Amino acid sequence: LDAPLFSGLPGDIDVSFEFFPPRTEKMAQTLWESVKTLEPLGPRFVSVTYGAGGSTRERTHEQVVRINRETNIPAAAHLTCVQATREEIDEIARHYWESGIRHVVALRGDPPDGQSRYTPHPGGYANAAELIAGLTAVAPFEISVAAYPEVHPDARDAEADLDNLKRKLDAGATRAITQFFFEPECFFRFRDKAVAAGIDSEIVPGVMPVMSFASVQRMAGLCGTAIPAWMEGLFEGLDERPAARQLVSATIAAELCRRLYAGGVRQFHFYTLNRAELSYAICHMLGLRPKGIPDDC
Ligand code: FAD
Repeated sequence: LDAPLFSGLPGDIDVSFEFFPPRTEKMAQTLWESVKTLEPLGPRFVSVTYGAGGSTRERTHEQVVRINRETNIPAAAHLTCVQATREEIDEIARHYWESGIRHVVALRGDPPDGQSRYTPHPGGYANAAELIAGLTAVAPFEISVAAYPEVHPDARDAEADLDNLKRKLDAGATRAITQFFFEPECFFRFRDKAVAAGIDSEIVPGVMPVMSFASVQRMAGLCGTAIPAWMEGLFEGLDERPAARQLVSATIAAELCRRLYAGGVRQFHFYTLNRAELSYAICHMLGLRPKGIPDDC
């Protein structure tokens, strides 16, 4: 293999972790334990997703503000355009700014349940690029956006999707985080095309350690991520063996990251699904070690 061995990786990477807002007290506790487990790794930020149709508006806000206040990690809030007017979105953004949140992951969002096509709210932002323009008018947020190595399902073609990414960065975003994917070449091809299209912003691979293969298959089907045949083979027969499945998941994701690292990637974004151990193990394999945490936290 032309990639360095794990034993040689110096941990010269930046990581970020994504969480979703918990629905129950117990889930809130799991989320908090995960944040505290990952904090010593010194992530440059963690982010909290925004449920379909704004369904988690309060819960996202509560978690983002809590992480920002009670840990040493800057927290970013995901925000979508779905089912809200521009004024409502601007108000949410203003509230974030007043609560000390400086980073927004700006997204269009998916159609609400039961609708197959995305239709913008009549008084709302039509897409992520418009949302970014709105956010920058509210306050000087740091803004991250989504990117699609395997092309967004709504895009006319790969070129149109890249044009859209460029529009989002030109509108004021500083970083793109990709949809999850499983073959490193998929990311490299996308990065090359982005550079050729004149995009020079950071493109951070989104890494999804597999917790449940069935749910990853479902998510992949919705967002257009290809699941390689070899991966299906590796998870075969492990549905009832969670411990073995975790080991396989960590190995697959760490190997993906190792190859990305060999291709020059130094920033990684992990879809944690609110569980710390897999992401922690992968970061550890990449050479990352706990950093000292200041006494005042
Ligand atoms: P956009 O960038 O607006 O693009 C959507 C599609 O429309 C693309 O195909 C684009 O090419 C096309 N398009 C946009 N503008 C134009 C135009 N002017 N002309 C022609 N075509 C255009 N969803 C959530 O609900 N909550 C979350 O918290 C969330 N977090 C995410 C985090 C990451 C890192 C990623 C990768 C995705 C996330 N999503 C989330 C999913 C996301 O909302 C969906 O993928 C959604 O369908 C597209 O959002 P977008 O911001 O990429 O849209």
